[in-house]
Amino acid sequence: MRWSQGFIPTLREDPANVEAASHRLLIRAGYIRQLTAGVYSLLPLAQRIRLKLIEIIREELNKMGAQEFLLSALQPIELWEESGRVNSVADVMFRFKDRKGSHLALGVTHEEVFTSIARSHITSYRQLPQIWYQFQTKFRDEARPRAGLLRVREFTMKDSYSFDLDETGLDKSFQLHHDTYKRIFRRCGVNATPVQAHSGSMGGSASIEFMAITDAGEDTIVLCSKCQYAANIERAESSYAPLENGYKGEQSSLTEFATPGIRTIDALAKFKEGAPASRQIKTLVYLADSKIALALVLGDQELNEAKLQSALQCKALRQAVEAEIVEALGAHPGSLGACGIKSAPDGKVSAIVADVRLKGRENMVTGANKDDVHLRGVSMERDIIPDRWHDLHTVKSGESCTSCGGTLELVNGLELGHIFKLGTFYSKTMDAGYLDNEGNRNPLFMGSYGIGVERLLAAAAELTHDAQGLSWPVALAPFHVVILAANSKDKKQIETAERIYDELKGCGFDCLLDDRDERAGVKFNDADLIGVPFRITVGRRAADGYVELTRRKDKRTADFAIADISAAMEAEITAAVS
Ligand SMILES: [Zn+2]
Repeated sequence: MRWSQGFIPTLREDPANVEAASHRLLIRAGYIRQLTAGVYSLLPLAQRIRLKLIEIIREELNKMGAQEFLLSALQPIELWEESGRVNSVADVMFRFKDRKGSHLALGVTHEEVFTSIARSHITSYRQLPQIWYQFQTKFRDEARPRAGLLRVREFTMKDSYSFDLDETGLDKSFQLHHDTYKRIFRRCGVNATPVQAHSGSMGGSASIEFMAITDAGEDTIVLCSKCQYAANIERAESSYAPLENGYKGEQSSLTEFATPGIRTIDALAKFKEGAPASRQIKTLVYLADSKIALALVLGDQELNEAKLQSALQCKALRQAVEAEIVEALGAHPGSLGACGIKSAPDGKVSAIVADVRLKGRENMVTGANKDDVHLRGVSMERDIIPDRWHDLHTVKSGESCTSCGGTLELVNGLELGHIFKLGTFYSKTMDAGYLDNEGNRNPLFMGSYGIGVERLLAAAAELTHDAQGLSWPVALAPFHVVILAANSKDKKQIETAERIYDELKGCGFDCLLDDRDERAGVKFNDADLIGVPFRITVGRRAADGYVELTRRKDKRTADFAIADISAAMEAEITAAVS
């Protein structure tokens, strides 16, 4: 393409009020424009990258035997009612009525539609396994769209779904996706770390996120400094010394004491008759599927809500508000505790979950469920009756890895892909089954697997940009090479640039000829800003038959004979993508 005829609306200045580098540079370099909150137009340069990403993903999925579909973005709400997800996704789902009054939604994901096709047409074990995928627009009414393409309300997703006979088959499909995802991200030149993830409300047995480690990410990832351990903070574990068989703390009797105005762990730690945070029991009150549940953790630790949700196996979880707390426990926050409370599925308190680190603790302090009164001498064994023990702890930087003892660190991660063992959640709720070789009907075992295409584009920008602008990996770049005459008044230079442009195009390279009547410095800066990986500069030495080849990412520059330039480009591209 000729720059003079292309649509590359670069800006001289950074856009205002923009934080993420990808957001800033994609706007400034003329790749995207915002239409409305969380909705972007992809301009030609961005669309070139998007199509390259799609092609890489498609090739790798086809290689593993997956079959491409294209389902509708428009979906009848009945399918979501059948799966029971209509409520859990209600706040992000775009819904409306058509002219006849039928309820429709724009697809948040496509588990329901794929399952409805599977149940109609898969009847026998002979048809399994199947892996189906598509590239389709997803719509999510995010409360806080942010950071350009990183969190949007409309985006392209590659979503695939596997259907297997049993758990073993699902394990295989899951592993196949795991390996394929690693290849996809490697080919894209994007470093993505697989991390263990929280399975959410669907109770699947395994879930792995592929994360780009970048400050632009909004997830927190726990990494081990010694081994390969990597997990989302929602799921991460750290080692601790259990007390159950060895704690020698003093036994003491349960005694109330007045704590006027003391409302926090800190205040109680400073209070004369109080106790350090590590000897307090923090009692938190939640509504789990509309029922009151208590969560207990050590006073110096943070409750992990994702782990609490796993412990309670609930679909919806939120903190109780003050009125709900007073009604259930008879006291206000700051004086709460679980001593003597018996949970019952339909009682005032439906569940009491205690963190495993509390096991065996003696002589603890906690609220008495009377305002301004606490209890000391609390024994976990004697005074509190949790109905389940669970790891509820939020890992902190510097704690120890459970597998190797190495030190754990916390970093920011940006989710690029997620692979998920769904098991039989959808096949059971939506009745999708097959007959085995003995004629018995079994549910399909399903997995679902996603990659956000535009987010991957933005992640590549985040990971590779520098002070001069974008710097695309060769496999994704909108153009492999930009060719320019240093002096745009010099007919000889222009002619040579044109010749090289034609030759390289003929060799199959994506070429951009900067034929604008601009100073060399302007052309260099623009080429750097839009991030083309190679630049060929036709300058004074062209008269002697030489041009300059510059690599964008490190500015390494070398002279080549014009006759050798396509071989030189070939060698560079091959080295960059292998
Ligand atoms: Zn480790």
